[in-house]
Amino acid sequence: MTQAAIVAQDLTALGFVALGVAIAYRWYRDRGRAQAMLAGALISLAVVAALGRIPNPPPVLSGADLALFMVSGFFVLLFRHEFVPIGRTTLALAYALLVVAIGVGILDVFVFSNASPLVASVLGIVIVVPWAIFVGEPIVRFWIESIRLPAVQKARMRFLSVGFGLLIVVLLVAVIAGSAMRSPTAIIATQLIALAAVPVIYVSFAPPAILRRIWRLSEENEIRAALQDLLIFSPSRQVMAERAAYWAVRMMGGKSGFVSDADGKVLATSGIDAADAAALIADASNPTVIKAPLHLAEGAGQLAITAGPFTPLFGTEEIAQLRGYANSVTASLERARVTERMAALEDSKTQFLNLASHELRGPVTVMRGYVSMLESGLFGHLNDQGRKAAGVMAAKVSEMNELIEEMIEAARLEEGAVTMHAVEADLRDIARAAAEVVAPLLGPDHRLVMDLPDRRVRVKVDPDRTRTIIVNLLSNAIKYSPQGGTVTCHVRSRAGMARVAVTDEGLGISRESMGQLFTRFGRIVTPETEHLKGTGLGLFLARQLAGLQGGDITVASVEGEGSRFTLQLPAAPAAASADGAQDGAATPPSVPVPREKSPAAD
Ligand code: ADP
Repeated sequence: MTQAAIVAQDLTALGFVALGVAIAYRWYRDRGRAQAMLAGALISLAVVAALGRIPNPPPVLSGADLALFMVSGFFVLLFRHEFVPIGRTTLALAYALLVVAIGVGILDVFVFSNASPLVASVLGIVIVVPWAIFVGEPIVRFWIESIRLPAVQKARMRFLSVGFGLLIVVLLVAVIAGSAMRSPTAIIATQLIALAAVPVIYVSFAPPAILRRIWRLSEENEIRAALQDLLIFSPSRQVMAERAAYWAVRMMGGKSGFVSDADGKVLATSGIDAADAAALIADASNPTVIKAPLHLAEGAGQLAITAGPFTPLFGTEEIAQLRGYANSVTASLERARVTERMAALEDSKTQFLNLASHELRGPVTVMRGYVSMLESGLFGHLNDQGRKAAGVMAAKVSEMNELIEEMIEAARLEEGAVTMHAVEADLRDIARAAAEVVAPLLGPDHRLVMDLPDRRVRVKVDPDRTRTIIVNLLSNAIKYSPQGGTVTCHVRSRAGMARVAVTDEGLGISRESMGQLFTRFGRIVTPETEHLKGTGLGLFLARQLAGLQGGDITVASVEGEGSRFTLQLPAAPAAASADGAQDGAATPPSVPVPREKSPAAD
């Protein structure tokens, strides 16, 4: 035998001894039964390899070597038995086969040591085939089972399969080929293949971080997508919990899983029925259940996984991952709760709007009728005080009426029951009509400037509703300028868009309050505005009505300096270019232009 072949044999033996030491150390740190079986297989293989390097061993040593070799294979079978139990009869047969193979091995060493090559080959096959069965069945099984395991576990199972697979190939080839394999080249080749099995098997029980990361890459994108889905798009707590349970089972390679709520109720399950899951919640000592707490605001829930055949194997990373995942699940469950509460609140607002507006409309109409009859003297002549009182009542009833109309409109919008009657109109006319409506609201210190272009600003809109929008903006500009000042209504058309900008020099709106604008009942109450009457519906309606006509409202405001609300509407097609000529018309110098703020409510 050449020196190279000897070195190859030494190297292989050394590789297996190192593998034995490595698994012994792992086993020392993690004393699980499965780990013990794998350690048994690899340590006995290491001893076999070491004994094999002793030159001219006495028959007792050779016999022990062969027996240990058989045992190493049998340990692989026991390792598999830990995860996917083998039936009793099969196990008994396997034990019998082990005894037979060891018996034949001992015969081979003591009786047939000088047998002909043919007999030696036959004996070799009788020894190696049981070993190949002990090892071959588990590796095929591991490969099949690994299909539905998470990426890291899958790869580790497969490396284990490939590692032992290489050993089977080497042994079968060596025994079947018999003396043909005694050439140095053949020895070097088989030794190198056996040596290659060492890192492959090592990686299966102690994979370096970099490999784990690579294995996980394919899965990580999927998990990230699922997480995103969980955090952003999940429609309800229920659906979210169901997805969380499903993904947790996948992530861990478990059999089933469930999510329980703070009150201990099962929220969602995957692969297990709710009653069984409920029984597991209280069971703290069940070793086949892995639980990650969900720290919900109302108490602790659980994200639990029941172990599949391979869950405890190689599982520490997945367990850490499960805990991290549980934190995301907690966050999304909490978010879903807030969303659900808000939806319920919105619902009750809608119900309130509907109920209040429709119930109030009748009585207010009756009151309006009577008040106007009172005012017109139908019930007899009123003295001065009576007339004054009737005047105040008429004003208040009309305020109430407006409020109810706003509420009804908001409720209609909510139900999608608003129909627009679009006609071609001149936006300047609509703005003028709006100005007339708000004129009585102007105080002595207010000045309303209508900055209108000379040419028509053609739009196709519902004129009444558009007037309502502009009235809203103008009346707000006046109302929220309690100290007076100039309110400007600037109408222009540019690049296919007609605009009405209402600017005031009033209170302005703070940056923090911007988000509240345009929401239902979104009043901004400050010491300066708390005495001013309002519902918080005006801007909401205005923006909705603008939206229904293909437009929008934006806002720019500086607290203490003033605001500008801009209504944009699509210009009527034919008018777009003609009116575009008027773009850039100068704003009158009297108009304050507040510094633009991000249109927060856009
Ligand atoms: P309200 O009935 O309260 O006026 P709106 O929906 O019209 O309801 O307005 C919502 C809130 O926006 C108001 O409460 C007010 O604080 C603020 N707001 C609206 N317009 C102006 C403005 N021109 N200047 C300052 N604040 C305004």
